[in-house]
Amino acid sequence: MATERTFSIIKPDATERNLTGKINAMIEEAGLRIVAQRRIQMTDAQAKRFYDVHAERPFYGELVEFMTSAPVVVQVLEGENAVAKYREVMGATNPAEAAEGTIRKECALSIGENSVHGSDSLENAKLEIGQFFSEADIAG
Ligand code: ATP
Ligand code: MG
Repeated sequence: MATERTFSIIKPDATERNLTGKINAMIEEAGLRIVAQRRIQMTDAQAKRFYDVHAERPFYGELVEFMTSAPVVVQVLEGENAVAKYREVMGATNPAEAAEGTIRKECALSIGENSVHGSDSLENAKLEIGQFFSEADIAG
């Protein structure tokens, strides 16, 4: 297995409830290293671009509104098999279906307000990291 980087967002429902530290602890306990992070207020344009793949879905408007409703923490995570590992640590999109001990099981409020994002492939990880970070931001 290779060392990979993946992109993470701690979403507004979690930053609003002061869950950034708890989520970061779960990430680190899983063996993933936080090599860059920044707390930002996402703009409407950033959220629309980020979730462009879902533009035709009925929940797109709600999703963009949610992602811009409060600050988020954007992160780069690094580790062995980081993309798949972080998806495992996050748990299923719908917290009702998320496994015990996952971030979404412990923290998420609903399928929409589900506390975290993680890239779903190495290719998307690179694109998503590039939307929010430059190479100089990342302490390898
Ligand atoms: P993410 O891309 O945020 O990591 P995911 O890959 O688990 O989540 P996707 O199918 O890519 O899930 O959906 C993107 C996001 O859109 C979800 O995380 C959730 O916030 C929102 N979403 C997905 N399905 C629904 C739905 N049925 N109703 C409301 N919001 C939804
Ligand atoms: Mg996704």
